[in-house]
Amino acid sequence: MSDRPDFQPSTLVIHSNRSYESQSNSILFPIHQTATYIHESVGVTKGYGYSRGANPTVNALEQSIAAIEGSNSALCFRSGMAAISTLCLAMLRAGDHVLLSEVIYGGTTRLFEQVLGNFGIDYTFVDTADLPAVAAAIRPQTRLIFAETPANPTLRLSDVKGLADIAHAHENLKLAVDNTFLTPLIQNCLALGADISMLSTTKYIDGHNATIGGSLATHDEKLVERLRLVRKSIGTIQAPFDAWLTIQGVKTLPARLAMHCAHAGEIALWLEQHPRVAHVNYPGLDSFPQKALAVKQQSAFGGMLSFELNATTAESLLFMKALKLCTCAESLGSVETLITNPATASHCDLTPELRARLGVSDRLIRLSVGLESPKDLIADFENAFEAIFGN
Ligand SMILES: *Cc1c(COP(=O)(O)O)cnc(C)c1O
Repeated sequence: MSDRPDFQPSTLVIHSNRSYESQSNSILFPIHQTATYIHESVGVTKGYGYSRGANPTVNALEQSIAAIEGSNSALCFRSGMAAISTLCLAMLRAGDHVLLSEVIYGGTTRLFEQVLGNFGIDYTFVDTADLPAVAAAIRPQTRLIFAETPANPTLRLSDVKGLADIAHAHENLKLAVDNTFLTPLIQNCLALGADISMLSTTKYIDGHNATIGGSLATHDEKLVERLRLVRKSIGTIQAPFDAWLTIQGVKTLPARLAMHCAHAGEIALWLEQHPRVAHVNYPGLDSFPQKALAVKQQSAFGGMLSFELNATTAESLLFMKALKLCTCAESLGSVETLITNPATASHCDLTPELRARLGVSDRLIRLSVGLESPKDLIADFENAFEAIFGN
């Protein structure tokens, strides 16, 4: 389909990898569950040698991801963390320095603090929403700004174009954005100037809690080749069956995202007017301090929100427990509505002082709004309010 670049993303995710060459004409791209490929004669292959290097089903998923990223190519990995690890091993060497968003996925913090730091890679956390602070934190050795926006779980936004301009004012400094919360269909980081867009495909791209996976996309073809080499060297490529499941997920991504955003907007408004709710973080609300930036760099407001009740932490946790439809589980971006308490889950490794400064209070509740009817979700909240507070 690369001869039809004029298609819209919602068409491309369905048709970018239609194959007509299979023996049966099956409408779905087949799962090439194979380790190796036959040489037609010694040294002659159809471009595939061994599935640690490349695999046709993984390649088909990569075409779908490239279609939504607007890049020539994308690479898929066994997990979001495998994607970030491969990126760092491909780009960095001992003595290099990285700037990380101070509110960032816990696994990314762990990777730098407990793994990459042991190999002489230096890093600093910075509030990437504060552009002058980012500019001031750059050192001669800084090679990468790795930012996440919206931040989890406060949804604080960083200006992607502003960060790209700062990075590109320096030689050899690239901007990578973890765009897992919005996907390129809502926030196209490459178009906004980022050098690398990273996704945990585990979340919205798969959307069904069926797989773990990750992806990287860039316009820099030299970096793509380097990433391929490192992925092959360390063995972080996506597995064919997981890629196949993810291909099915991404076909409905545009439709699912529209519903996630609509439902989250409705629930955010409902929660905000509720007397038991102290505060709601959702970029689509007029009360959200950075709504203008959301409107500038996003085409919608996403499916994630967080809120605090007018209640103690203990009561807030009981309220979560009383919910029946909202499922208490880590992860996000799936058809099921998932609810977490970041202070005891994703952000439990942070000190209480840092959590307080970042706005991650002990009672903060994070919601990944799923595709259930908002009417039923609101009824679930009403029942939980009734059970815990009697109203
Ligand atoms: C889940 C997640 C990751 C890590 O992805 P895995 O697929 O779990 O390895 C990275 N960044 C963000 C924002 C995530 O939500």
